Amino acid sequence: MEKVGKRFIKKVAIVTASTQGIGFSIAERLGFEGASVVICSRKQKNVDEAVEKLKVKGIEVLGVVCHVSNAQQRKNLIDQTVKKYGKIDVVISNAAANPTVDGILETTESVLDKLWEINVKASILLLKEAAPHLTTGSSVVFVSSIAAYQPQATMAMYGVTKTALLGLTKALAVEMAPNTRVNCVAPGFVPTHFAEFITSNDSVKKAIEEKTLLNRLGTTEDMAAATAFLASDDASYITAETLVVAGGIPSRL
Ligand code: NAP
Repeated sequence: MEKVGKRFIKKVAIVTASTQGIGFSIAERLGFEGASVVICSRKQKNVDEAVEKLKVKGIEVLGVVCHVSNAQQRKNLIDQTVKKYGKIDVVISNAAANPTVDGILETTESVLDKLWEINVKASILLLKEAAPHLTTGSSVVFVSSIAAYQPQATMAMYGVTKTALLGLTKALAVEMAPNTRVNCVAPGFVPTHFAEFITSNDSVKKAIEEKTLLNRLGTTEDMAAATAFLASDDASYITAETLVVAGGIPSRL
């Protein structure tokens, strides 16, 4: 990581769901590039461990417990950030749940509510809370999924919530312009805890690798690099866009 740029010096970045996986790598990348990063997730122990891992790498970091669908914890996340760093330059909305493999018509109402609440509504409510503190030239990135373009049978409703983020990106980019850019990344398949169905099954892993043009799964660092680009001033003329980071798995023209 010594070779990364320094695009986030003096910037303050919040990354949700960032104590492991893609969120952690995004926080690490922004931190390596000079940002003060605010990380969070549901469990204090995970927050503490992730803070330590980032600190030993020389990254300026604040860790806060925040279940993204808890209003009080969302408010606290923003309050703590502003108290410590005085402003917000970057928000990466990365949290998601995928609690069912049922078809959409078989999914219970409470699970439908949970999917909407965590994957879409919480992102909106967090931005409402963050908006008064966003600097001129600030940047928001949503983490969607390749599944947004073609929801798969085993995660259909999850895919639909990720499709909603593509629309949310467009709508909020209009609403938040010109002060704040709003973009989105759509990861392909990355072997994380969330994607246990890949890590736990060699034939699934091989089938997904073969779907890519680059013959491999994505890494959390691949997702972090694309997210950091969109969040940075290198993307200062890009807003309302989704960047697919999926090794060439078909998405759209
Ligand atoms: P992961 O490795 O399982 O990490 C999930 C992180 O989120 C953990 O730090 C977890 O910590 C935290 N978390 C979970 N629920 C939370 C909540 N309600 N509020 C706050 N934090 C929460 O997952 P990942 O694969 O990196 O997924 C990150 C994002 O990438 C998701 O939006 C997912 O949809 C998207 N994505 C992933 C893939 C993939 O193949 N992995 C593909 C496309 C899109 P705690 O347990 O402490 O809360």
